[in-house]
Amino acid sequence: MVQAPFLGLKPFGAMDPDLVEGLAGPLRLIFPLPAQILAASEVPPEAFKPNRGQHLSTELLHHLADHAPPGCVRILGLTGLDLFIPILTYVYGEAMLPGKAAVVSIHRLSADSAGGIVAYRVLRDRVLKEAVHELGHTFGLTHCDDKQCAMSFAHSLEQLDHKQASFCRYCTVLLTDGLRLPL
Ligand SMILES: [Zn+2]
Ligand SMILES: [Zn+2]
Repeated sequence: MVQAPFLGLKPFGAMDPDLVEGLAGPLRLIFPLPAQILAASEVPPEAFKPNRGQHLSTELLHHLADHAPPGCVRILGLTGLDLFIPILTYVYGEAMLPGKAAVVSIHRLSADSAGGIVAYRVLRDRVLKEAVHELGHTFGLTHCDDKQCAMSFAHSLEQLDHKQASFCRYCTVLLTDGLRLPL
């Protein structure tokens, strides 16, 4: 039997299960794939870069893509690790453009402007916006100039809080095109 296509949500290390499970419903409204929570994965040791003291998100993407179970046509890693790519100090997430894997970190999303911890509701909204953004990339969407659109690039938490967890009309059309690509 062929496994029906689904979106896998994969925690890396310790993640609040409510935060992970809470993504499934909202993501289903945007992407035409039911979400399945996958077993948490150990963090691949090669992803840690001692010279930066951070994890290279690109390594996590390859690990996710290589370990996706049958039918898992998109896989979203969720982690509390501080992620980076070489040209940036840190990233909230990264994705293959297009491709199978995306990853989002809550490490920088938990902060409020005063250096404290944000309310759970705010964190949950930020994680969803980042998840929609990174999964949008996996379907071929690039950054959007509409600051409200989930595909706009948030340079700060303020910009992230300002945008929506949904796509503008233009990106919605592009997503429809992206869905015609082989999964
Ligand atoms: Zn992006
Ligand atoms: Zn847009």
